[in-house]
Formats: sequence, structure tokens, C-alpha cells
Amino acid sequence: MTQTVSALIVAAGRGRRFGGSLPKVFLDLCGEPIFVWSLRAFARVPQVSRIVLVVPEDHLSLATNISREQQLDTPWQVIAGGERRQDSVRAGLRAMAEDPPDIVAIHDGARPLVTPEIIAESISVCAEHHAAIACVPLTDTVKSFADDPDTSPERQPSSLPGSPVLSVVETLDRSKLRALQTPQPCDYPLIVAAHDAAIRLDLEVTDDASVVEAYGHPVVASVGSRDNIKVTQLEDLAQAAWLMGRRRGAATSSPIRIGHGYDLHRLAPGRPLILCGIELPHDAGLLGHSDADVALHAVADAILGAAALGDIGQYFPDTDPRYENAHSADLLAEVVAMAADAGWSIGNIDLTIIAEQPKLSPHRHDMIHSLAAILGVPPSSISVKATTNEGLGPTGRAEAIACHAVAALIPNEEPTS
Ligand code: MG
Repeated sequence: MTQTVSALIVAAGRGRRFGGSLPKVFLDLCGEPIFVWSLRAFARVPQVSRIVLVVPEDHLSLATNISREQQLDTPWQVIAGGERRQDSVRAGLRAMAEDPPDIVAIHDGARPLVTPEIIAESISVCAEHHAAIACVPLTDTVKSFADDPDTSPERQPSSLPGSPVLSVVETLDRSKLRALQTPQPCDYPLIVAAHDAAIRLDLEVTDDASVVEAYGHPVVASVGSRDNIKVTQLEDLAQAAWLMGRRRGAATSSPIRIGHGYDLHRLAPGRPLILCGIELPHDAGLLGHSDADVALHAVADAILGAAALGDIGQYFPDTDPRYENAHSADLLAEVVAMAADAGWSIGNIDLTIIAEQPKLSPHRHDMIHSLAAILGVPPSSISVKATTNEGLGPTGRAEAIACHAVAALIPNEEPTS
């Protein structure tokens, strides 16, 4: 029989250890409040049919608004927590009492890097053993210490001034030790009974597995992850952001795509010379079906190349009368939209224009700004270089202007993780 599972995300800590007026779990991590990442992870676990989020009472409406913005498929509710963590957990358990689940997966809202896989694994361990806890093996050797009144501070130069002198009591068997994380799923009736008993016995507990242990029921380990860190200090937030960024990068097969484009157009007297979308003073212009902006054509091909979408001849054939005297800027804007539809944004563009005449350096600034405006990127993302061909070949004889372009594309910002 499939068991029903509710998630209980505890985000009621005042924890203003970073300063500021917002509780810790409301701080931004990669564009979202920390607790939102847990909401999303649980919403992606098919077994989880309801999510209860517990927050400080004075942040109830803010948390509700933020949760609503997520448009989660899983039903959710936000409730007010209590003074201590265990009071908040009890409030969450009470909120489920009318329609109790078989299993409740309790999770710390300050662990934003939990994954649907870790959650699902802990639930399946719980389904078999009634109480589970996500955890990871230790990599450091762990020793227990005790105050040693017989050892003088002078003989322990590594001791910090004023700190008690500690001596090793024993080296613990690392293979039997685990660092504890959440989720900590448990059978609903069991965790309710265990918390009730803790209240009767006036037990102060910091995690739910301890409540179940104290109640005399075994708790079984499930596989957590080293990345599933708890954001407690400011350094944790930086590390969480780094881990999140790495995870997003890994989700894309290739985080950056490079494309190259090349084009050449003949120069003809009496034509306007359009380069990078602007007209430059010259006695000759480029010959072509469109405005023959050789720079924009090369850039368009570089972008299409990076996105593996073909080339501009395929989309804007010079046999099509629609593109006669077309503004290449309009065509390039269409190419940018096509790349965006395929999931790509412009990272940067570098181009080299090969022209004997006119001298391009006085127009470099205007060309960069024009290209940036067409592409919708900052000018700092655009590089325009110019060179001659030393008098050699058609470009060297000023019969043509050519352009090479390189485009780097980056994945569009994902609306979800
Ligand atoms: Mg062309």
C-alpha cells in the first residue's frame, strides 16, 4: 500500500545571525529566499502530497506571498511556529492532525541544497523502518575531549589563551559515525507520540530523530549529501551559493557555447557604407541584397553557429524579395530572438573587420554601441577590432570588406532550479 507523505519544513528560527531585520531563511540565495529552495525540492517529490511550512508569526503573510509566487503543484500551507524548534514542529504536526499523513518528512528550511533524490530516499527508508534520518559519513577523525586540570597551559602551546585545556579521552571509530542532516521522516503517529512524551518529560531537543530515540524507537540512516549544508553563518551562505551555481552549471550539458561567423561583401561606388548598423562616411558602400552590413551578417552567423541553428542564408535568403534592402539590424534582432527561444543569451561578441578603406578606428565607439543596442547587451560585452589586409587580395585592394565574428552564448536564466 502506498503511504501518504506530508513535508514539514521548519523555517521558524529567528536566526538573525547575519544582522538585518529578516530571519535567516528569508535571505536571498541565488535569487530566491533560502527556504524557497526546500519548498521546490519537496514539490518535485511525487510521494509528497502536502507541504506545511512553519515560519515566524510576524512573517506569515510574507512567506505566504512568496510561496504563492512559486505556483507549486503540491498543495501547501504556511503556519506560525513557536519559540523553540520543537514548538514549531509540534505546531506543524497539529496542522496535519485533521487529515494525518502516514509519514511526515521534517526538514530544516535552512538546508536549501536538499534534492528530491535525498528526500525520496529518506522517505523510502522510513516506509520500511518507521523513522529515518539523512546523514553523511565523516571524513575527519573525531576524538572526544575532556578538561584536563593536570595539564598546564604552557605545555599545550596550541591552546588559545583563556580557553580550557582539553585532553583527548578517546578516538572514536569514524566508520560508526555520521553527521546528521534533514530530512528526518517518521511515521506520523510515532513522531506525534514522541513529541508528546518529550513535553511530558520536559526534554529539550534540537532535532526530531533525538525525540524518537528518546521515545525508545530506533532511527535508521538514509543517504544524505555533503552538499546538503545548513546555512548558519555568513560563510555558509557563500558556500551554498557556490554549490547552487555548480549544480545549475551541471544541469546544462555545456554552460557556454561558442560560434564563429564570416562574411565578405564587395564595395561599390555610390552605395551607403553600413557597418554594425550605422552609416560611415565613405565614397563607396557594400553591395548586397540587403544593406550588406558585413559585420552584422558575421555576428548573426556566429550566434546561429553557437546555438547550432544553421546560418543566415537559410533564414533570410537573398532570393527572397522580402529581404531586398532589408536592415540587417532587424535580421540580427530576429536571430537573437531565435537563439533566446532555443535557450541562449548573448555572453559576448568579438569581431574583426578587415578593411583597407575607410579607417575604422574613429568609428569604433559608435559601432560598439550600435551593436550592443541591437543585441540588447551592455557595450562591455562587445569588442570591435579592425585590420587591413596589407594590400593583398580583394580586401587589400579595397574591393571588398570582410568580417570575422565570434559569439559566446550562455544559457538563459532558468525560472526554476
Ligand atoms: Mg552577407
